[in-house]
Amino acid sequence: MDKKYGVYICTGCGIGEAMDVDTLTEAAEENSVQSCQTSSFLCGKEGVEMIKKDIEEEGINTLIIAACSSRVNYDVFNFGSDKIVERANIREQVAWVHEPDAEDAVDEEEDHTGRHAADVIHMAYAKVKASQPVEPYVVEDVSKAILVVGAGMAGITAALEAGKAGYKTVLVEREDEIGGWLNKLYKVTPLNAPYTELENPDVEAKAKELEENPNVTVYTSAKIKKIAGAPGMFDATIDAGGSEVAERVGSIILATGSKPIEAKNLTHLGYGNYKNVVTHAELEEMAKNGKIVRPSDGQEAKKIAFIQCAGSRDAERLAYCSHACCIESMKQAAYVSELNADAMTYVFYKDIRTSGTYEHFYKKIQETGAVFIKGDITSINEDGDGTLTLESEDVLLGGKAGIDGVDLIVLATGMAPTTAFGQEVELEVGDDEAAAASEEEEQATPDTIIASDILNLEYRQGPELPTLKYGFPDSHFICFPYETRRTGIFATGTVRAPMDMAKAVTDATGAALKAIQCVEATANGAAIHPRSGDLSYPEFNLNRCTQCKRCTEECPFGAINEDEKTNPVPNPTRCRRCGTCMGACPERIVSFKNYSVPMIGNMIKGIEMPEEDEEMPRILIFACENDAVPALDMAGINRLKYNPWVRIIPVRCLGSLNLVWIADAMSEGYDGVMLLGCKHGDDYQCHFMKGSELAEIRLSKVSETLDRLGLESERVKAVEVNIMDYMNLPKMLDDFAEELDELGPNPMKDF
Ligand code: SF4
Ligand code: SF4
Repeated sequence: MDKKYGVYICTGCGIGEAMDVDTLTEAAEENSVQSCQTSSFLCGKEGVEMIKKDIEEEGINTLIIAACSSRVNYDVFNFGSDKIVERANIREQVAWVHEPDAEDAVDEEEDHTGRHAADVIHMAYAKVKASQPVEPYVVEDVSKAILVVGAGMAGITAALEAGKAGYKTVLVEREDEIGGWLNKLYKVTPLNAPYTELENPDVEAKAKELEENPNVTVYTSAKIKKIAGAPGMFDATIDAGGSEVAERVGSIILATGSKPIEAKNLTHLGYGNYKNVVTHAELEEMAKNGKIVRPSDGQEAKKIAFIQCAGSRDAERLAYCSHACCIESMKQAAYVSELNADAMTYVFYKDIRTSGTYEHFYKKIQETGAVFIKGDITSINEDGDGTLTLESEDVLLGGKAGIDGVDLIVLATGMAPTTAFGQEVELEVGDDEAAAASEEEEQATPDTIIASDILNLEYRQGPELPTLKYGFPDSHFICFPYETRRTGIFATGTVRAPMDMAKAVTDATGAALKAIQCVEATANGAAIHPRSGDLSYPEFNLNRCTQCKRCTEECPFGAINEDEKTNPVPNPTRCRRCGTCMGACPERIVSFKNYSVPMIGNMIKGIEMPEEDEEMPRILIFACENDAVPALDMAGINRLKYNPWVRIIPVRCLGSLNLVWIADAMSEGYDGVMLLGCKHGDDYQCHFMKGSELAEIRLSKVSETLDRLGLESERVKAVEVNIMDYMNLPKMLDDFAEELDELGPNPMKDF
């Protein structure tokens, strides 16, 4: 591309008052630019027209918008994918956070904020100089069909919603009929207004709806044998009742549900010791068979006690709340009374959790006779006739509560996702020397992959979805419900998180929308969350690849397979564009058209580095675009003032950090480098799973480089932030500046 550069400086929003714009324009023109213009309202009609005129009349195709954050006005400054546009944030990250004379420097006359803004423009120029326009990776014959695995309430709903939206949908169920858990239920909780009446699990109606939708194909007694490919071109081989069927789909929804946790370790609640202690599921089966009886003697059970959180919310058994047990017990108490008007029901609970419309049903149950007792069970004993005596704390009335003559105790056991069952898979990491060397190094927390025989993915990274702490395959516990760590595969219903029927219905609708977004984005060559719409993708210069496997191992989404010679085989439509492979590659052969190791290297070198005697230290911040950059912007929006020594380079994820950037920064004379990234560990907030963790691991190896340069390792620091930490940022930066002040200037500065 024959580049023609234009720099457009906004003087509105307080920028013009914070700095001398004429001097800034002169600084911008030091670069080889064909046009440099200012506007007091660049995002307004006249400002945008001015830019468009330059594009049309002067042939400007490479633009630097020196104005607000790239997080705002992205549509206003979008001039088409054949143009290169870089946003130089001189508003939130310069004008709004630094006083005009912020730096306590030798030359008090100098416009330091203007100098800062000039650095930001120089960095943007350095980047666009090395950038190329992005060309989307478009799959030929892309499939927009959606495969739904599991035909319980969530799976049926997802298939129907996708089908109703006009997408071909394939629904696969292992059992010989659809319905899943619904088939085991006598009644379901109230799902419709007035939310006080129990409903029937009307699977036949669902089956009819599926049958009548021409977009939905249902396979029962069917199992996924294997899935190869990537979003837009997944090839699923389905064993349907003994015959093999091939389906090409664009995205996948996993809706295989959960299983009740085993009750055998609930002996302290009588299970296994006393015959008349049963689980929720066992009571439901009795009710479905028509009679609720004491297993000990088959006599009708008239006095029934429900024990909530049986094993749940207990760090030694099941640490979480299963969300549905409270409303399920109320449902059961209600039908016990319906089946036998003389029956008495008691509910022992820690807390009642019946949110939303279930409140109506909770009220009704309280009014119609169930007795609620808040407190932990302290003892359960069997009497000679098989009845049971319970004692518990009574938190509300004080002291103890006790009932005897209980015919049946029902334990509200929680649920665990189907992905939690199976053997953990040992991943083959290769046996060549490079891989062995890489294995010896400190590694990021390995993904847990459980061979649950559900999806049977033909992925180098293992056959199933990586799971989180309790076996759930969700990928990000805060920001991205439905998404898993395999792009284009979404989880919904109780396999994703514990939930009740009503939630499963809305959840499945959401998952269908995510799957639709995915196939549409893939058809356009665009990324899905969190870089929605990004058209760039990593390109590998494989001539220089040493087959070290770092990229295949560190890609958080399993986007890179291997060929028989262990060369990486990237799958662009599986890629989420995080750049982790770029940061991992020791040969630096992975790059994007608009993001690469040399590009960031040029940005690092782009600023005007003050001489040591100018007494203006410089701190380089690599800020993750997901939380750190928004936090920095928020600091600006709130007009918090922070240290003027900082120069910020946004990165897609700290996982894309290549260590050479640290060496570049130190040789260039920066006094310190800070990595601002997301929290990692069990409750990680990294949008790309392990990016910040990987960056810290890489950083731990940087001391050697610093030693070689004769520098202290304290000059480089990693800090975890989330978006709400914006209030703390000024102090974090000031503290680091103080530490650097004590170390003195970088000795490389004047070289
Ligand atoms: S950019 Fe990220 S998601 Fe894409 S291949 Fe590289 S590491 Fe994987
Ligand atoms: S592309 Fe880079 S990281 Fe991946 S195997 Fe080749 S040398 Fe290693």
